[in-house]
Amino acid sequence: MKTKVKNQKTLQPKAATFNVRKVRKDFPILKQKVHGKTLVYLDNAATTQKPLAVIEAMDTYYREYNSNIHRGLHLLSEKATGAYEAVRVKVQKFLNAKESREIIFTRGTTEGINLVAQTWGRQNVGAGDEIIVTTMEHHSNIVPWQMLCGEKGAQLKVAPINDAGELMVDELKKLFTRQTKLLSITHVSNALGTINPLAEITSFAHSKGVKVLVDGAQAVPHLTADVQKMDCDFYVFSGHKVYGPTGVGVLFGRYSLLETMPPWQGGGDMILSVTFEKTIYSKPPNKFEAGTPAIAEVIGLGAALDYVAKIGLANIAAHENSLLEYGTRKLLEIPRLKLIGTAGHKAGVLSFTLGDIHPHDIGTIVDRQGVAIRVGHHCAQPVMDRFQIPATARASLALYNTRGEIDALAKAVRKAKEVFE
Ligand code: PLP
Repeated sequence: MKTKVKNQKTLQPKAATFNVRKVRKDFPILKQKVHGKTLVYLDNAATTQKPLAVIEAMDTYYREYNSNIHRGLHLLSEKATGAYEAVRVKVQKFLNAKESREIIFTRGTTEGINLVAQTWGRQNVGAGDEIIVTTMEHHSNIVPWQMLCGEKGAQLKVAPINDAGELMVDELKKLFTRQTKLLSITHVSNALGTINPLAEITSFAHSKGVKVLVDGAQAVPHLTADVQKMDCDFYVFSGHKVYGPTGVGVLFGRYSLLETMPPWQGGGDMILSVTFEKTIYSKPPNKFEAGTPAIAEVIGLGAALDYVAKIGLANIAAHENSLLEYGTRKLLEIPRLKLIGTAGHKAGVLSFTLGDIHPHDIGTIVDRQGVAIRVGHHCAQPVMDRFQIPATARASLALYNTRGEIDALAKAVRKAKEVFE
């Protein structure tokens, strides 16, 4: 089987500027040994490792200007506020949003989706209405909508995927009715690697008056996410999957929608004035950022986005695509190994099964060889059900991975085969 891997046409790598050996030096964690072997970290879809630039940016904040934001008139607070708000502008540029006030800091993708479900969703979805998701969604893009549908008496509809793990776009289109209020769809599948054709889908949804939320958790580390080109209404991602820290994420929302949405959490920083009779809320984004936010983490996220920009997303995509093609070839040389997720348009995920060997057994042996992969349902149980399997083993790629590491993976998988067959 030949899997051709393409990426977004807009990404043209800069010639000969990407040097993976040099890049690896930026990630101190990669130098260590596990079980006496040099670490091969291939669990990047779960979380990516952090470059020194991120670690140092957070360290500097705590050492030199730790202070609460927006409230203090003193110098440290002004410095911290400036650094925090500068990241909002970086994220705006990263997503090509029209305005920085369309960027809300959250704890991560999961919180971003829940925020939309509990604010826009509660306000706009009623009894008999419909929300569409797809079979390939992560649980965090299923459960918040199930909760909302349960509360409101609305219906959750599910668009199917084909045997390659590609969205069946024509079938998706057939699900839209007059009752459909929202399509919530992943940009890139974490279990399969499939990249969805979002511009076509959002344009269709909008022609039916349906809003679109895009889960960008697995997209932003690999490809350009341009919210204006995609023309989505909401876009969410997590900092930790794009070389930033845990505990911070982003919700992009079209400003005209954010303006009409009620706040989610109440508290400090999201108000203009409070009396016991009446509270007046701030405008977005502050309206949605109640309480002290993850200041150090936001600053770390800013450093991560600077780092990605310095390397160049086009270079990252080209490197990862070449690794994906190499890895696909290497793994398929192993007898009885089956790739789950063979979409023509795919980002750096290699999900597989190996004969009757349980993925957990593969994971254990592979770990002993120093290779970190993920095994299980990857918080995407409906994908496993679709392929009638309990779990897969999944290697997922990042900019610091090498062909040598793919060879180490293939060798470790062959070892698991020897042990269990
Ligand atoms: N959506 C997708 C596609 C994911 O891969 C993940 C995490 O793996 C999430 C959502 C949830 O992200 P987080 O746990 O950072 O909120």
